Amino acid sequence: MVARTTPPPRAAAKEPPRVARAPRVSPGLEIDRALRMFVAARAVLRAVPPTASQHGEAWDEVLQQIEEACLHRPMAKDLGAFVRARVVLEVELDHDLHRRVALPQDLAKRVRRTLRAVDEEVGELRMIAAPGALRPSPRLMAGALILRQPLASMTVSSPFGVRTDPINGFKRFHAGVDLGAAEGVMVYASAPGTVVYAGWQGGYGRHVVVDHGDGIRTHYSHLQDLFVKVGQLVDEREPMAAVGNTGRSTGPHLHFAVTHAAGSFLDPLTLIDVPLQPEPTELAGSEGVPLAMTR
Ligand SMILES: [Zn+2]
Repeated sequence: MVARTTPPPRAAAKEPPRVARAPRVSPGLEIDRALRMFVAARAVLRAVPPTASQHGEAWDEVLQQIEEACLHRPMAKDLGAFVRARVVLEVELDHDLHRRVALPQDLAKRVRRTLRAVDEEVGELRMIAAPGALRPSPRLMAGALILRQPLASMTVSSPFGVRTDPINGFKRFHAGVDLGAAEGVMVYASAPGTVVYAGWQGGYGRHVVVDHGDGIRTHYSHLQDLFVKVGQLVDEREPMAAVGNTGRSTGPHLHFAVTHAAGSFLDPLTLIDVPLQPEPTELAGSEGVPLAMTR
């Protein structure tokens, strides 16, 4: 028996899933357009003295577009565009070093910081696209699915949504919720389901994914010890793992995420203890992005 002493956050639970408006132009296209303009501008700037302010203006414009693209939800992001951005920024930064282009110090810092952020995006989007991470199960639940809190006692240390990244200081979308807990604290499945991933997953560290049917999956990251294997049936009464500090993490905590259908991330705190009807189409609009997986 699991003692669930702390009641879940009732106020948050009553709100419907957050509705994000779809970007008018896809962030991937925005990045690619900004990169094309940047490369064209830079070709002209080869003939301009390295001290000219136009160098800084060109950088500022492309950085702005990339920074904005980082704020979108993972499923609205284009992995290819971030990969292209990384290549272009690295090549152009290299050109500047060779030509001794003098960027203002804060701008030079921002270039390097953006490059690191693009790197992080590429890493995260690759993990999300990894086989087994997001493909929903076609199995239908009998009745509504209710997600329970994954820890007996929950303290939210970082909510879902745009935040300043604790490692690189960059503003980006946090696609789950961080629950502060000591190392070794037991982690429970949020609802009955099947373990579809249990193992190391890049920045997520030791990671477990549980499929609950209807395309709903819960994701548990930065774990210490795993007590479950792929294919195992789990429910909210049995510990699956212990809280840890593995992967891209600054201290012991549980990163908890919920995805539906083709992998759109939902705010877990709005879903806990709310019956989810087995109608994926109704949930489908809540992300504001097409559900078709493109990669
Ligand atoms: Zn997190």
